[in-house]
Amino acid sequence: MNFEFSAAEQDFINEVRAFIHEQAQLPDAADVMAPDRDTDSMLSDTPARRRFNREMAARGYLGMSWPAQFGGSDKDGIYEYLLNEELARVGAPLIGKGVGIIGKSLIRHGSDKLKAEFLPQIRHAEIEFALGYSEPSAGSDLASLKTKAEKSGDGWLINGQKTWNTSAHFADWYWLAVRTDPTAAKHKGISVFLVPMSHPGITVRAIETLGEHRTNQVFLDNVWVHDDYLVGELNKGWVYICEALDLERFSIYTISPVEAKLELMWDYVKTETRDGGPLSALPAVRRVMAQLTAQVETAKMLQRRVIDSACQGGVPAVEAAMFKLYMTVLTQRMANTMIDILGPRGLLHKSSADAPTHGKWEWAYRATALDTIGAGTSEIQKNIIARRGLGLPYVN
Ligand SMILES: Cc1cc2nc3c(=O)[nH]c(=O)nc-3n(C[C@H](O)[C@H](O)[C@H](O)COP(=O)(O)OP(=O)(O)OC[C@H]3O[C@@H](n4cnc5c(N)ncnc54)[C@H](O)[C@@H]3O)c2cc1C
Repeated sequence: MNFEFSAAEQDFINEVRAFIHEQAQLPDAADVMAPDRDTDSMLSDTPARRRFNREMAARGYLGMSWPAQFGGSDKDGIYEYLLNEELARVGAPLIGKGVGIIGKSLIRHGSDKLKAEFLPQIRHAEIEFALGYSEPSAGSDLASLKTKAEKSGDGWLINGQKTWNTSAHFADWYWLAVRTDPTAAKHKGISVFLVPMSHPGITVRAIETLGEHRTNQVFLDNVWVHDDYLVGELNKGWVYICEALDLERFSIYTISPVEAKLELMWDYVKTETRDGGPLSALPAVRRVMAQLTAQVETAKMLQRRVIDSACQGGVPAVEAAMFKLYMTVLTQRMANTMIDILGPRGLLHKSSADAPTHGKWEWAYRATALDTIGAGTSEIQKNIIARRGLGLPYVN
């Protein structure tokens, strides 16, 4: 068993670090890299972020694991993992939904027309996507979604409402799950379409979240889309959505910001004092810090299993569920622990001059709650592990 990266992989890590260092010297660097707020760059849009993404495209970093026939470099998925980890470490935009979710799904299931239209635009960082799954009464039980598409000429007329759609306020295209056969069993009557967000029948309204990230409600009124924009086969959407969710669970969650947070915690307890002695001398602090250190290492190993399975060519459903569950609960635990260690002042918002560590942990305490919900809640990850991993029976 070898947990080390190969020489070629290490060279790639060094290359990416050099790229990031170069980018960090540019005048707009602060708009692209936000190490304190590790998920910001994925959830907001700025000219600097788009420029950074185009720069990544120019370096050939987008679509590295795609087959060469679709403009990729036929590289192992591990390179995308290594790239994302380095980007996440400095809070820079990850390679994200376009490459990791929509691109990979289109390569597996898309028509030649969709591949020809979208894959080059994704690779060149020309377009952004939003995922339109959740609805006001369909989240965990996504298969009960009601947004409907009815046949209309050589296309489909879509009506309904989506919610919690991240990036919908700046995305160019919508990866949209709709019901195309209301008479079929609920998992069997769903299809996925690609819809331009600029369609006049689409209205986007902001939802501000606990973690200060914007997500959105999206209303679809008589949105007509041509047959060509159906992804894969009609009424097979559930299969594509499940695959895409598995891809999302491991292409979006990275470990390097968690390691960076642990380092910050260690720095704090080693340098701060309480009652005349260093915090790190207190048994309760030592115990919890040792536990967290072991748990971060465990999360890293769970992630390596996901990457290993993905590199063998599969969609790592159970491994990704374990990693997502463990990682998101761990980051929440780290924030809770740090709030305990900081004491009452730890609850101060960053706008207060007295807020320790510029309010980072107060923010993390709120923001990490969201990670346990997005891309499938912790309970749903447990269901995946129980049913798909352990073969336990389905209990409604
Ligand atoms: C920050 C963020 C970003 C998001 N981005 C997107 C996006 O881009 N696109 C999109 O479509 N959606 C997005 N979502 C929505 C997300 O996928 C849903 O919120 C999530 O799937 C839960 O659905 P729900 O909110 O309807 O809660 P519900 O499904 O109503 O769940 C409520 C509670 O019941 C529990 N529960 C439900 N069913 C079961 C069960 N069978 N067994 C045990 N417990 C259960 C849940 O775990 C949860 O605790 C985002 C959410 C967040 C928080």
